[in-house]
Amino acid sequence: MPRLAVLGYPISHSRSPVMHTAALAELGLAAEWTYEAIEVAPENFTDVVDSLPGDGFAGVNVTLPHKVAALAVAERASSAATAIGAANTLSFADGTTAAGNTDAAGIVAALPGPPAGARALVMGAGGSARAAIWALREAGAEVSVWNRTAVKAQSLSQEFGVTHAEAPATASFDVIVNATTVGMKTASGGQPLGERGNDDLKRLPIDADGLNVSQTVVDLVYGPQETALITAARARRATAIDGLEVLVRQGAASLELWTGRPAPLEVMRRAARGE
Ligand code: NAP
Repeated sequence: MPRLAVLGYPISHSRSPVMHTAALAELGLAAEWTYEAIEVAPENFTDVVDSLPGDGFAGVNVTLPHKVAALAVAERASSAATAIGAANTLSFADGTTAAGNTDAAGIVAALPGPPAGARALVMGAGGSARAAIWALREAGAEVSVWNRTAVKAQSLSQEFGVTHAEAPATASFDVIVNATTVGMKTASGGQPLGERGNDDLKRLPIDADGLNVSQTVVDLVYGPQETALITAARARRATAIDGLEVLVRQGAASLELWTGRPAPLEVMRRAARGE
């Protein structure tokens, strides 16, 4: 009876249990596999992870604030997790703990097509920006990085061998990824609709009115309400990929890692969106 879970702090808001439970049912694995949410305070993270294999866990997703600790606790790590410096999956096969990073694969899988040769702008310099930069670069995109605090984008661009864009021109990119926290308040429903464009879009370096039909806009931020960036992208007929689609894709890659079965994407999508 293999168990799966997501570890975070807090964790009650997570869409992962409902999404994975629906997927396991669709795969006919619901009688054997379970997926639960476990709240783990940072000081308990290592002890909890050590106890998981003995408690029947085959693997876990790891979310904030444990992604760096998850890499540190593992005996083995994928090239993605190592390069990004963070892990969002732990797998407990063969008596060892292996760290992986399906956030990276999820971003690329969410795109309408392979980004080889695409000019990609990643906005942000935090954990999810690292995953986006690495994933897009590995997939053959020409990556530029912008961040509010420019010095962080500069050092990230050096680390990953990509370009630092201090004042990116919207029209110069085929793929634009928001990996900042801008939009979280709007997505959570905490900011009235009328203030969206004024507040959120002004904090990003792109010209929302300059987006066009040939571009793909990915917003990693998600919540019950659409972000201003996604609204703007749709209005300009750009391909808009929201954070829930990226969440679904990283979840699908995680599930495939543990079960070896192709993940039922549409079922996961509907469950994640509460449909
Ligand atoms: P993080 O490590 O805390 O990084 C935050 C980034 O946001 C930094 O680059 C920061 O810039 C920037 N920022 C914060 N406030 C800003 C403002 N007012 N204007 C401009 N930039 C601002 O965050 P993270 O873990 O990378 O997460 C970023 C977002 O991605 C979150 O909303 C998270 O929920 C989401 N996410 C989604 C998925 C998914 O599956 N969809 C996966 C991972 C993360 P400075 O360096 O200048 O402070």
